[in-house]
Amino acid sequence: MIQGKIVKVSGPLIIAEGMREANMFDVVRVGENRLIGEIIEMHGDRASIQVYEETAGIGCGDTVVSTGEPLSVELGPGLVTNIYDGIQRPLEVMRLKAGSNITKGIDEPALDREKKWHFVPTVAEGDAVCGGDVIGTVQETELILHKVMVPAKVSGKIGKIAEGDYTVTEPVCTVVSDDGKKTEVGLMQKWPVRVARSYAKKLPPKEPMITGQRVIDALFPLAKGGTACVPGPFGSGKTVVQHQLAKWSNVDLVVYIGCGERGNEMTDVLREFPELKDPRSGYSLMKRTVLIANTSDMPVAAREASIYTGITIAEYFRDMGYSVAVIADSSSRWAEALREMSGRLEEMPGEEGYPAYLTSRLAQFYERAGRVVCLGSDGREGTLSAIGAVSPQGGDLSEPVTQATLRIVKVFWGLESSLAYRRHFPAINWLNSYSLYQDRLAPWFEETVGPDWAHVTAEAMRILQAESELDEIVKLVGVDALSAGERLTLEVARSVREDFLQQNAFVPEDSYTSLDKQYRLLSLILYFYRKAGEAVEKGADIAGIADLPVREQIGRAKAAGEDFVAVYEDIEREIDTELAALTDVSETEER
Ligand code: ADP
Repeated sequence: MIQGKIVKVSGPLIIAEGMREANMFDVVRVGENRLIGEIIEMHGDRASIQVYEETAGIGCGDTVVSTGEPLSVELGPGLVTNIYDGIQRPLEVMRLKAGSNITKGIDEPALDREKKWHFVPTVAEGDAVCGGDVIGTVQETELILHKVMVPAKVSGKIGKIAEGDYTVTEPVCTVVSDDGKKTEVGLMQKWPVRVARSYAKKLPPKEPMITGQRVIDALFPLAKGGTACVPGPFGSGKTVVQHQLAKWSNVDLVVYIGCGERGNEMTDVLREFPELKDPRSGYSLMKRTVLIANTSDMPVAAREASIYTGITIAEYFRDMGYSVAVIADSSSRWAEALREMSGRLEEMPGEEGYPAYLTSRLAQFYERAGRVVCLGSDGREGTLSAIGAVSPQGGDLSEPVTQATLRIVKVFWGLESSLAYRRHFPAINWLNSYSLYQDRLAPWFEETVGPDWAHVTAEAMRILQAESELDEIVKLVGVDALSAGERLTLEVARSVREDFLQQNAFVPEDSYTSLDKQYRLLSLILYFYRKAGEAVEKGADIAGIADLPVREQIGRAKAAGEDFVAVYEDIEREIDTELAALTDVSETEER
């Protein structure tokens, strides 16, 4: 047993001597209360230890004991619906045992040791298996079929295996390797959080993660297995966006990591999430969610661990062949924890005091996202998409965490408070947001949704960009300086913004829009643009066009029900009729 003595305490950082034999990233227990910590730096026999609990009362001379193991998570049935802290301690169990303030050094297994799970084998005695192969399933919740997998480095022939009820610590079978080595396999695996789980092969993303949010799917799509960043100035609708993503995205499982914004916000998440319903199944959203929460009474160091804990759990479900989304809120708070530790370690500070390795650490996190061929002989695929919220002070996107994140992620949804003040929701700024997956996903959209999807969405984007340029001119010289065609572009841009981009999360018909409906709705607006453009060429009055009654119908089109195809066709006919009437009038006047 490696045992050392504390020589220095500085908040969550302690330094201990006599640790020469210990390894980097070993978990240690500190002092009488056995607080949980992790070695983050070694110099000779001195170890710098990041402690995940309040260090008040710890002093020089107290003992530190290394467990000889890296910080790890337990992976098995019982993860889903659970709420964990940053080092995977189950919050609810701890609250029941110890009251609302987490007692120091409390050791509570992440997965319930008593609960029996019904295991159904999918292999038989004598079958040859290798690491990653699925040997059976457990119906973990109504929505998640948990696949029990052979651990990564194990292979051989299956020994006795039987359907039945097992706890996570009981073996369900043994695997006998060619040289006769027996390994017991159970429902639970352990995995070090700072190491990415292995997979057979990484593949480029090819399908969108469909969110039903029009501005996202149509203009700035995220790929399954991709990475995105969403900044959230206060009041810009960040929480609603995250809820919408968790609710509607076509993924099998969501891991939500709350890096304690402010204490009360985290409690909001803990309260609100279990109340959300999965719109497709009607069950509580928690039936396909794992929550990681850093409550306000935990020191900042625990935030640092939480994103690794979260992404490891997400990788584990991806390994089963599922599509998983990780939402980390917010990576700025995580970076602040990194900064604080770096300061205490007296490292050379980089920009704004953040350590120089900020970008590489962020990259390590996002790199764990991706579409992969999982381990195992069946070649199943899984995807892990990572969405990181950042909370730049005062909405200043030039600060280091946002900038570092933008260098890594491929999608940026720029939430802006100015749009939220104007009640334009989701308040995603269409002019500075982007998605680098657009070209890659275009073939999928064109095959699945509509052959001119790329053209239609690009046209909408072009109109919005034209609007911003024309707005400048209007500001300088007034609207009269614009041609009729340009004024029509302004009218249609408003329609794209109000009738397409704006989407009310709280109106049932509007909260989610299928891709087909998004495509047809946008096509409808562009149909009006094209037809009105022709009318303008024929001399129709632009003010008359702007006031056509059919525009109101276009405005209501997003709320159309199941019969939207017929409704939109009706509106197109109405566009033709009203425009024809208008051009008739202007032609008569000319005569
Ligand atoms: P933040 O978390 O950024 O402080 P919220 O997500 O709580 O902000 O959003 C603030 C308010 O904005 C919400 O209470 C809601 O009224 C409104 N809002 C945000 N997004 C939408 C949306 N998509 N549809 C309708 N209202 C929205």
